[in-house]
Amino acid sequence: MIAYAPFIAAVTGLFIGSFLNVCIHRIPRDESIVFPASRCPKCGRAIRPWENIPVLSYLFLMGRCRGCREKISIRYPVVELLSALLAVAMLYRFGLTPSFFIYYLWACVLLVITFIDIDFQIIPDSLSIGGIVVGLVLVWWLPLSYTNALMGLFLGAGLLIFVIYGYYFLTGKEGMGGGDVKLLGMIGVVTGWQGVLFTIFMGSLIGTAVGVPWAFAQKKNMQAAIPFGPFLALGALIYVLWGDLFINWYFGILA
Ligand SMILES: [Zn+2]
Repeated sequence: MIAYAPFIAAVTGLFIGSFLNVCIHRIPRDESIVFPASRCPKCGRAIRPWENIPVLSYLFLMGRCRGCREKISIRYPVVELLSALLAVAMLYRFGLTPSFFIYYLWACVLLVITFIDIDFQIIPDSLSIGGIVVGLVLVWWLPLSYTNALMGLFLGAGLLIFVIYGYYFLTGKEGMGGGDVKLLGMIGVVTGWQGVLFTIFMGSLIGTAVGVPWAFAQKKNMQAAIPFGPFLALGALIYVLWGDLFINWYFGILA
């Protein structure tokens, strides 16, 4: 791998993250992600190119719109940094291979889904079903058989439908939504059935570790549940980046 490849990946990741911010804002509002250029949501002031440099502009503007002094969400630089981090992590994991490009693209979609789910408690079909369709095409370039991709898709969607109905049957309440089913299907397509099992396990673990204290802190009951999508996305990313290590460690303990 070229010595400066991680640097290029990081900078490209920042600019892609800037575009992901546009997607996070506009997709749930049914707006075009291409036109028009970005504006301040409060005063409508067009954002100049030099005010649109990832992270740096946020620091330079001290987190405020130059027109109306309205606070710019910290989420903008955070998404840009996460995107850069994911690009570098995927590069170290896969090297300069097709897997790097595909899994990074897929991680970007998970990032967009995560923040839309946090804001709106929905996962747009254009991302989840779109991800399944595009994923089925891209599997061709991944070290994953089509059989395993399809098993991942149907196990992911199937298991979650089973869990949702089981939970509903036991408690009479809805724990998760149909959006999570399609999301887990989209995860299964590129991780295979092992990835699906790992994602459910890890997602539930992190979800419980974060969700239970959060519910207590908010003095809400568990029905005012936080969206599960971000935890599934995080579990899936951990699987792609470090799944082998976890599985070896786990079976090492068993043996
Ligand atoms: Zn403004």
